[in-house]
Amino acid sequence: MFSCWLSRLCRGLSTPTGRVTHLIQGSLSRRLMLSSQRRIPELSSFVARTNTCGELRSSHLGQEVTLCGWIQYRRQNIFLVLRDFHGLVQVVIPQDESAASVKKILCEAPMESVVQVSGTVISRPPGQENPKMPTGEIEIKVKSAQLLNACKKLPFEIKDFVKKTEALRLQYRYLDLRSFQMQYNLRLRSRMVMKMREYLCNLHGFVDIETPTLFKRTPGGAKEFVIPSREPGKFYCLPQSPQQFKQLLMVGGLDRYFQVARCYRDEGSRPDRQPEFTQIDIEMSFVDQIGIRSLIEGLLQYSWPSDKDPVVVPFPSMTFAEALASYGTDKPDTRFGMKIVDISDVFRNTKVGFLQDALSKPQGTVKAICISEGAKYLKRKDIESLRKLAADHFNQEVLPVFPKANRNWNSPVAKSIMEEQRSELIRLMEIQEDGVVLLTAGEHRKACSVLGKLRLECADLLEARGLVLRDPALFSFLWVVDFPLFLPKEENPGELESAHHPFTAPHPSDIHLLHTEPKQVRSQHYDLVLNGNEIGGGSIRIHDAELQRYILATLLKEDVKLLSHLLQALDFGAPPHGGIALGLDRLICLVTGAPSIRDVIAFPKSFRGHDLMSNAPDSLPPEELKPYHIQVSWPADSEAEKSSLNQPYHPES
Ligand code: ASP
Repeated sequence: MFSCWLSRLCRGLSTPTGRVTHLIQGSLSRRLMLSSQRRIPELSSFVARTNTCGELRSSHLGQEVTLCGWIQYRRQNIFLVLRDFHGLVQVVIPQDESAASVKKILCEAPMESVVQVSGTVISRPPGQENPKMPTGEIEIKVKSAQLLNACKKLPFEIKDFVKKTEALRLQYRYLDLRSFQMQYNLRLRSRMVMKMREYLCNLHGFVDIETPTLFKRTPGGAKEFVIPSREPGKFYCLPQSPQQFKQLLMVGGLDRYFQVARCYRDEGSRPDRQPEFTQIDIEMSFVDQIGIRSLIEGLLQYSWPSDKDPVVVPFPSMTFAEALASYGTDKPDTRFGMKIVDISDVFRNTKVGFLQDALSKPQGTVKAICISEGAKYLKRKDIESLRKLAADHFNQEVLPVFPKANRNWNSPVAKSIMEEQRSELIRLMEIQEDGVVLLTAGEHRKACSVLGKLRLECADLLEARGLVLRDPALFSFLWVVDFPLFLPKEENPGELESAHHPFTAPHPSDIHLLHTEPKQVRSQHYDLVLNGNEIGGGSIRIHDAELQRYILATLLKEDVKLLSHLLQALDFGAPPHGGIALGLDRLICLVTGAPSIRDVIAFPKSFRGHDLMSNAPDSLPPEELKPYHIQVSWPADSEAEKSSLNQPYHPES
């Protein structure tokens, strides 16, 4: 098998004589065997270099090497620093007459030109070693050089420390990719995906199956991108995920499916969202929730980069109700405390108007968080801005209380909090010296949400003042389980929508409530959270066609005709099944510590969903739209845009 692959590869190379082929095959196969045993990839096979710029050390002294790379620096026409993805190496430009042509090439080539040099690895003269450079003990004494391609004037310098706007980076993405940071991010991503494939396919028998990207509208869920077809009035949609296909694969007996799947959602970009993104998409038959969770814990443990602290399994889990009550969100950041505490009982007899009001209502509660060391680190204006945020975004009043600190620059209402209430607060919330309590009142969900948001804001404020709350080396995984099956629709709270998606099975203990109190039904949906970010979600699915039809048609009021193929398939002996999808971009973003998911995607879209390099999406002339039977109806204020058809392109700034 191996030698057959190798000979096919060699046949594809330029045409060496039989003897040379034999030699190449011999040495290549030895090197590849060695590399596979040691798991060190061969970085210079098949190409015009012998080594990478970053790999040379004192152990290579005396070796004749050929390197290819970009000119990073030149000093006094004597030294040149050459760069490739692997690192930097110093090259000594020959000064003697006989090497005048080599000197000319290396001295005249503009920065960032790509060159090939051949020479000997020599020691740097004593005292001239550079301990900051991994290759700092050696340099290359050049014998020959070739300018492979000259570089014109660049829009920005290719140096990681040189600041540039993101718009400029995206417009010249191919140059931005030359930075060590982008190289690191994309190479780490590739390695992790490779390990995931290995774990799923080689260790657990998963089958990697591609599913279509031209599909039709899926009821419920995200907005989809529409693709015109040549049939009048008929459109494809880009799938928001391979959900239906992966379930159909289970019906088809492909009982362990996975795919590195591209998904599309027309929802605009946010720092952690892209209109097109990648999921590690998984589905299994005959599995329960614990099975899926163990699989994912093993997958992350196996693929985790070796330079990070190892992943500890099993991951803790928390119910949705608990997450909301203690952290005010379904994706709690469990790296730090400051949990929400219900203090309704402390204020049953309060004189404070808004607390009294809240507690007189049926679902009324009083809740609080305690900011440790808040009195020391937060300023009066911080507290005011937190209160303003609560008022502007949640329409909630928030009261600061300083139970132990000897200062009271908070609102006058706080004075109405009696001494015994303060002591009870100190006991209940375990308040230390300098702790500040932020208190709010209202309906449970609303009070929790506002405090959840303030908890994160406070963490940012305290960290900005130098307190370390969230260790950057810590990866805190958490399963959130027992979600409600349905939520009230945002735009019409009288109607229901799926909390996950309409194919999620109800919790077995709540099935009896489906017909009577659907809002009370919990689901078999689970989310994986990492450091307060949702990095995955999935569920055990409905495999009974009747139940699926009832949920779609009666409870969600969806058009079941759109899903008749799936409903029919469930009726043909569909096995029980479940799955999950991990958001690969977000996961890699957190692992690398990148500021945005755009930093771990080779060619991302801008904040407004544009490709700033190629100017996509772009206009099409009417005659090209004709075959699709569509016409653009231009909004009144877009005359300028219309006339800009075929005009030169100006990127977003
Ligand atoms: N398709 C789902 C999603 O994209 C994941 C799953 O349920 O497996 O969120």
